[in-house]
Amino acid sequence: MSWEFVDELKQNLPSRRQPSLRLFLSQARFPWCKNKTKMIVVLKSNVSPEEENAVVEEIKKLGYRPHVMHGVARTVIGAIGDEHSHRDLDVLNAWTQVESVTPIQKRHKLVSREAHPQNSTVNAGGVIVGGKKIQVMAGPCSVESEEQLMKTAHAVKAAGASMLRGGAFKPRTSPYEFQGLGEDGLKLLAKAREETGMPIVTELLSQDQAELVAEYSDMLQIGTRNAQNFQLIIAAAKTGKPVLLKRGMSMRIMEWLLAGEYVLANRNANLLFCERGIRTFEDYTRNTLDLSAVAVVKAESHCPIVVDPSQGCGKASLVRSMCKGAVAVGADALLVEVHPNPTEAISDAAQQIDLKGFATLMNELTPIAESVGREI
Ligand code: PEP
Ligand code: MN
Repeated sequence: MSWEFVDELKQNLPSRRQPSLRLFLSQARFPWCKNKTKMIVVLKSNVSPEEENAVVEEIKKLGYRPHVMHGVARTVIGAIGDEHSHRDLDVLNAWTQVESVTPIQKRHKLVSREAHPQNSTVNAGGVIVGGKKIQVMAGPCSVESEEQLMKTAHAVKAAGASMLRGGAFKPRTSPYEFQGLGEDGLKLLAKAREETGMPIVTELLSQDQAELVAEYSDMLQIGTRNAQNFQLIIAAAKTGKPVLLKRGMSMRIMEWLLAGEYVLANRNANLLFCERGIRTFEDYTRNTLDLSAVAVVKAESHCPIVVDPSQGCGKASLVRSMCKGAVAVGADALLVEVHPNPTEAISDAAQQIDLKGFATLMNELTPIAESVGREI
């Protein structure tokens, strides 16, 4: 909940009433209250006793226990209930005498730090994401051929990458562009894993393919275009494989956290958020990589956060700098597009770094990781 809001509220209440609000808030933290829904309803000033009573009755009707606190200028009603429904907030907000309704609990219950104060870790085929070591997932945007994939896989492994990325099913903006090798691409990824020992992360595009893609991979990527495709997210969660949820290109952080909630709510605790840039008015870069979101997600959630600077800025020349920034700000892992010959890449040619550039990047990241108490 927003404690700033409570402080503000306290200032609006006369001093003799402050203990009452404090009492409500402290009761709200008692074990018997732990799984209850709590909210604070602030009434407008000069509300008549009848109007106040109408809101109290509505709160009861919705199944909450009201706790009325009268101030000099305002009346505040604390409410404690059993069920959680966002609709309740809307219903109360619709009353003209209500100034605001603030839920005490976060809507993103399971992904929030309130539910799990420590950082959680995700194990993807033996690679632990969210611990001291920053994991680097590297590989081509698309799996194009055996030669391209194997060459990249061996080179990124030698440079220190711990997971291999590569799209077999590609979500292309145009239907006339390369759509990926499909299952043949998955087979090549599995072969690369066999040769290098690196677990695989690859994108899942449709619910029908959830089992197929999960069979070949160690982590399922939900792309930016599907970040609020809840049925797809649920299908991914149900495979039991770790789910890397990219941020939708026009998605607010809260919406992203709630999309992630679908994974945990479907009994899969292995969720990773991935910041990959959002649409802004800036068009120098393909997207605007929002590194502030990394700090926000770290504060709000216990789940690991990954940064993808390749889609994030869309320019190979910027990828190294953005990786360094991501590590400094607290990313748990990086997702980097690497191609043996970027100019010949079938997709995202402008943003893939070459094998030498990737090796340089890994060396450059070491002191930055150490400076923030991590290793790479
Ligand atoms: C990708 O990783 O190649 C990709 C398509 O990502 P996004 O969904 O972030 O665009
Ligand atoms: Mn790409």
